[in-house]
Amino acid sequence: MTTAPHGTALWHPFADMSEVKAEQFCVTRAEGVWIYDDRGRRYLDGTASLWYANAGHGRTEIIEAAAAQMRELAAYSVFNDFTNPRAEELATRLAGLAPVDDAKIFLTTGGGEAIDTAAKLARLYWARRGHPERTHILSRGSAYHGTNGLGTGIGGIEANRTGFGALLPDAVRVARDDADALRETVERLGAERVAAFFAEPVLGAGGLHPPEPGYLEAVAKICAEHDILFVADSVICGFGRVGTWFGVERWGLRPDMITFAKGVTSGYLPLGGVVVGDRVAEPFWRGTGGAFRHGATYSGHPTVAAAALANLDVLERESLLRRADELEGPLHEALRSLAGHPAVGEVRGGTGLLGAVELAPDLLAEDPGAVPRAQRAVRDRGVVVRPLGTALAVSPPLTITESEIGLITDALREGLDAML
Ligand code: PLP
Repeated sequence: MTTAPHGTALWHPFADMSEVKAEQFCVTRAEGVWIYDDRGRRYLDGTASLWYANAGHGRTEIIEAAAAQMRELAAYSVFNDFTNPRAEELATRLAGLAPVDDAKIFLTTGGGEAIDTAAKLARLYWARRGHPERTHILSRGSAYHGTNGLGTGIGGIEANRTGFGALLPDAVRVARDDADALRETVERLGAERVAAFFAEPVLGAGGLHPPEPGYLEAVAKICAEHDILFVADSVICGFGRVGTWFGVERWGLRPDMITFAKGVTSGYLPLGGVVVGDRVAEPFWRGTGGAFRHGATYSGHPTVAAAALANLDVLERESLLRRADELEGPLHEALRSLAGHPAVGEVRGGTGLLGAVELAPDLLAEDPGAVPRAQRAVRDRGVVVRPLGTALAVSPPLTITESEIGLITDALREGLDAML
C-alpha cells in the first residue's frame, strides 16, 4: 500500500480521487499468476489485471518479440497505402482464427476504440448501401462497451452515461437476457431504422452475467431475420477467456463484426480491433463504398503487432484455450463452495474462467462500501479480486492451476468471514 504524503498527480480511471489520492496499491512487479507490491508482498492475480493477462505475466517470449521488433522498426503508421510486415501478419492470422468468412481486421489501440470503430462502420455501411435512415444502435441493459464517445452512449450501465449529455441519442437499450424484448424493440422502432445490435457474449463489467441458455442464438437469429448487423463485443471473452479464440464460437455464432482487445496481447502492449465480416467489408473493399475515413495514429503499430503474434504463439503452444475449458468447471465449483456463506448472496459463472461472488443483500444494505471493503479484505489475504457493482469478480490468467484456484477461494472465504 503506497501512501503519497503530497497526494498523487495520476488521475485513476473510475476512481474517486478524493479517496484514492492518499492511499494506493502500487504494483511493481509480476511473474506468472503473481504480482508484487512496493513492499515486496506477493498476491495471486485473481483478475489477470483488468481481464487481460491471459498468458500470465513476465513472458519472455512476448517481451523479446517486442524488443526485437523495436530494434528493427519500432513504429510506423499504416494509414493510406503504408503497411508493415507485423501488422499484415497479425491481420492474416486473426482473420484465419475468426469465425467469420473472408474476415478483414481493423486494428485499434484498445477495446473502446474498437467499439467506436464498429459503431461508425455499421452506420456507414448502411449509408453506403443507400439506407442512411438505419441509425439506431441497440444494446443490452448492463452492457459495458468502453468509455469512448459512442461506446459510452451505447453502454447499458446508467451511471457510466450520466453527466455527459446525449452522446448517441439513437442508442436504445433492451432488457438484458430477453430475446423477446429485442424483437419488440425492433418492431417498435422499425427494423428499417436499426443499424446494429451490440452484445457481449458474457456481460463483464456490468456484473458478470453469462447468457441465459439460447439467448445469444435467439438474438443472432432476430438480427438475421431483420437484416440488422450483429456485433459481438468479445473484448473480455476473446483469446481463451471462454475457451475459444473470439468467444462467440462457443455458441456457434457468426457475427457481422467482432470487437476484441485485452487478451489479444495478454495486455503486454495496448491493442484492440474489429473483425469485419465480408458483408460489411464488401462495399469498402470492392470499390463502391469509398474510404472509411476513420483510424488512430497507432493502428497497425508493428511493435504491438509483434507482441500480439508472440502472445498468440504462447496461447497455441501451451493449449491455453483448452486449459481454460478444462478449468472452467473446477473454478465454478470452487466459487460455488462459497454459496452457503452468510456474506454471500449468489455465485455466478460457469462460462470460461470468469466468476463472481455477489455479496448478501443485508450486507449491501447495511454498508454501501461493503464491496470495496470485501475486496480489500481478500487482498489483505494475498489475492486480488475485482469489485464489480454488488459483487467480487474473478478472472485469473489462463495459466492458473487448480491448487491456485483453491488459494483464491480460501482468501475469499477468509475475507468474507471478516465482513461479518
Ligand atoms: N468492451 C468490453 C466488453 C470491455 O470489457 C471493455 C473494457 O473492459 C471495453 C469494451 C473497452 O476496452 P478498453 O478499456 O480497452 O477501451
